[in-house]
Amino acid sequence: MTDYGDLVGAVDQGTSSSRFLIFSTKDARLVTFHQQEIEQKYPNEGWCEEDPMEILQSVKTCMKEALTKLQQLNISPDKIKCIGITNQRETTVVWDKVTGEPLYNAIVWLDARTASTVNQLIEKTECKTKDGLRSLCGLPIATYFSAVKLRWLLDNVPAVSKAAQEGRCLFGTVDSWLLWNLTGGRNGGCHITDVTNASRTMLMNIETLQWDDQLCKFFGVEKTMLPEIRSSAEVYGTLTEGPLKGLPISGILGDQQAALVGQLCFKPGQAKNTYGTGCFLLMNSGEKPVQSKNGLLTTVGYQLGPGKPAVYALEGAIAIGGACVKWLRDNLGIISTAPEIETLARKVDSTYGCYFVPAFSGLFCPYWQSDARGIICGLSQFTTKEHIARAALEAVCFQTRELLEAMAQDSGIPLRSIQVDGGMTANQLLMQLQADLMGIDVGKREKLGSFFK
Ligand code: ADP
Repeated sequence: MTDYGDLVGAVDQGTSSSRFLIFSTKDARLVTFHQQEIEQKYPNEGWCEEDPMEILQSVKTCMKEALTKLQQLNISPDKIKCIGITNQRETTVVWDKVTGEPLYNAIVWLDARTASTVNQLIEKTECKTKDGLRSLCGLPIATYFSAVKLRWLLDNVPAVSKAAQEGRCLFGTVDSWLLWNLTGGRNGGCHITDVTNASRTMLMNIETLQWDDQLCKFFGVEKTMLPEIRSSAEVYGTLTEGPLKGLPISGILGDQQAALVGQLCFKPGQAKNTYGTGCFLLMNSGEKPVQSKNGLLTTVGYQLGPGKPAVYALEGAIAIGGACVKWLRDNLGIISTAPEIETLARKVDSTYGCYFVPAFSGLFCPYWQSDARGIICGLSQFTTKEHIARAALEAVCFQTRELLEAMAQDSGIPLRSIQVDGGMTANQLLMQLQADLMGIDVGKREKLGSFFK
């Protein structure tokens, strides 16, 4: 029997699914995991919601099922020494701390309902531009970020504003929602987030790494509803139920930052691109925040322990990557599984002038245009679903190229290779198109073993 030594568990709560993965501490090998899809609801044009209870339940189910699989391998759950949480970022949850119930569905990061809130907020800034708060939080005012979503909730959902007035409303990104529930919920759950998730709210000062008075005032958010900001690696609390009861939860990283760490991008200039629901290119920019002049985001990459320096990253974010493939599957029905897009796209050698701009939720980096919407153009009677499938894959590559160019301009470092990960990287054609379009190496790291020796 393989000896994996001590184990660690990772909750990976993504946009389209939740996973619980169990790794060996000897060589970071994946021992077993369980995954469950979660439903995304589209109740209105540009809206995207998820049920916070379903998110929580899916995580609990994944933990339970992964432990069953572990036992089937004759490994005792006692071998697991701690767990960490990585999560879809910016997605906003508000709940009642007395009842423990969510006050609204989670507003998912790519939801574009707050376009008019964005315009009102821009008007409130001194310079009346979307970059009016960049020097404080590193981010443009956009539908993407949590404080904008929270402002919308306070303005539009009476149950939220009432609970806020009565001091019962707690705000959190998905990490905080999960941690609070897994550590006891209304019976003393820890209301905590880490610096990487906090850096996506627009409420944290990018230099001090604390909630910023000016930003909280600007958004009209009471600090009492916000979680405490901690480093990404420390014990926040212990699990209060289930087979792993008593186990410490000792790490939180937003999913894209977790990928930066997982790809071992520990030196300034090292970068990774993740192709999931959206696409996220992050470059380690060292211990000082670098402000972008080209529409990128300044974000915290990781802080590996209290008192340790925060390491920053420049980020290019694209809202629609794999979501476009899902759209072709679920809305147009031209494929029945995501991998089929590759088979289809390979049947033609070019799109023959067909272009797909999947701006379903507006355009993120580098444009930040929330009222943009998708378009398929260059159609002729020659165009088939094969061309549209190929154009969808090319769209992901074109968008990534724009990020790479902005990154090179902001950092002064032209990237020669990037590490890639995420569900879409199973698509060989996509990876080849990407490498051809950018003229750089696109590499997938299969093993972390050597790093641990
Ligand atoms: P997330 O963490 O955002 O939930 P994942 O990294 O799990 O995303 O990737 C899931 C996404 O990848 C889905 O949007 C799906 O459509 C897409 N995807 C999965 N397999 C393929 C494939 N072979 N080709 C293209 N897209 C794929």
